[in-house]
Amino acid sequence: MALKLDGKEDSLMAAIVDVKNVHKSYGDNEVLKGIDLQVTEGEVVVMIGPSGSGKSTFLRSLNKLEDIDSGSIEINGWDISDSKTNIDKTRETIGMVFQHFNLFPHLTVIENLMLAPTELGKQTPAEARETALRLLARVGLADKADVKPDTLSGGQKQRVAIARALAMNPKIMLFDEPTSALDPEMVGDVLEVMKELAEEGMTMIVVTHEMGFAKQVADRVVFFADGYIREEGHPEEVFAHPKDQRTRDFLNKVL
Ligand code: ADP
Ligand code: MG
Repeated sequence: MALKLDGKEDSLMAAIVDVKNVHKSYGDNEVLKGIDLQVTEGEVVVMIGPSGSGKSTFLRSLNKLEDIDSGSIEINGWDISDSKTNIDKTRETIGMVFQHFNLFPHLTVIENLMLAPTELGKQTPAEARETALRLLARVGLADKADVKPDTLSGGQKQRVAIARALAMNPKIMLFDEPTSALDPEMVGDVLEVMKELAEEGMTMIVVTHEMGFAKQVADRVVFFADGYIREEGHPEEVFAHPKDQRTRDFLNKVL
């Protein structure tokens, strides 16, 4: 395989996500029809494709928010398709950011960040506060620590959601259309935070329609259509020379 031809050690290329032949149906509707995907540590994978093609279902299945019908999923060394695997422990290693933030409205911003690490006994309240303040500074919201989420703009809420996911010190971050619900002027700040995260070496899988972000930040673009991965490759290659007709049609609409 290409990775071995590079002469790199297998251990350096360890897959942090290893998905094999995953199938998933809702009733008669087969949404994932045999998905294979490997993601290596530090890689940024952007998933694109038409609405309804199974991107969210796939992403959610990676931390078992959806159960799959067949196939296997290993993530961060845990085989989550094995019912004996401790899914709570696995989820502690996965940060997830959704389109609609899902912040706790009754808690302040800093309390949102401190909740999981303290409840799960990962950090003392003092340590969690320190981590939270550092992360809020990193996403440009140090001055918002003590306000409630509903006083923030959509873009600020999403940056809090990213900081909250990072507070658990995850090995991988999953993003499902993190900027789709934002006013256009808010999108750039959120993408900037994600870009910095990628530059710092975070392993990321990002579902987005932001083709500029995909071109700039992705190591690999994966094109979903009709429950299959139709095409994947380096963004320059996929955008400039799409091989699959569906990819071409999709790119003609969005680029
Ligand atoms: P995408 O994120 O690419 O837009 P989704 O994964 O959300 O696609 O949806 C893929 C298909 O699965 C769609 O046909 C959608 O209607 C269906 N679907 C998604 N979630 C559910 C659910 N909880 N119950 C039934 N059907 C669902
Ligand atoms: Mg979706």
